[in-house]
Amino acid sequence: MKELLPERNDTSRTKLLRERMVELQLIQRGIVDQRVLAVMKAVPRHWFCLSGTKDEDAYGDYPLPIGYGQTISQPLMVADMLQQMRLLGEETVLDVGTGSGYNAALLSRLALRVISVEVVPELAEKARERLRSNGFENVEVHVGDGSMGWIAAAPYEAIVVTAGAPVIPEALQQQLRVGGRLVIPVGSLALQKLLVVHRTEKGFRIEEQGLCRFVPLQGKDGWQ
Ligand code: SAH
Repeated sequence: MKELLPERNDTSRTKLLRERMVELQLIQRGIVDQRVLAVMKAVPRHWFCLSGTKDEDAYGDYPLPIGYGQTISQPLMVADMLQQMRLLGEETVLDVGTGSGYNAALLSRLALRVISVEVVPELAEKARERLRSNGFENVEVHVGDGSMGWIAAAPYEAIVVTAGAPVIPEALQQQLRVGGRLVIPVGSLALQKLLVVHRTEKGFRIEEQGLCRFVPLQGKDGWQ
């Protein structure tokens, strides 16, 4: 039997911090998808932060560094993107930018199967181990350029990109099922607009959400 990681701890204190995060940062700011709220209340965010992160920071209203110049997004941004995905539980989804694995862990409870792609091998390895050892079994973490999607498991009912792109990557649109959605920040390096791209029988329809700021998407259809 493998020893449990220390990060498996979830105390009454971290549970309380998480309940407060959901109430003050998400519900009071308009997140209404009950499944999204439930998973964010259930999945310990502090398991996915760098070791040494204070619990208050793990549940704070801001992004946090996860190493390699990358960040785990602010909880509200995570919730907003998940809400835009409109998942019911039977979907196969693509998560581009595994990072800490937090978003993938939430998705694993909101969809049937999660394919997560990360370009930094060390981050992918750490997230894979963390997800596996904490029982998030329907997540596959792959190392690669997620701006090209992950063709082996396509098409997807929903795709989420948690890094800012200069354009909407063509491969991601092509790997969407008809009726599916791609949630992606697109814009300059400094500022992006959150887009929801719907694939319809006729083509693609783009819905624009608010402004946001993400670390740059690398790769072929990213900032090379
Ligand atoms: N969703 C993550 C945070 C994302 S930070 C979480 O829950 O923690 C953005 C991540 O995207 C970083 O880990 C970065 O290395 C990764 N990334 C950037 N460009 C990428 C690309 N082309 N393909 C896959 N991952 C990429």
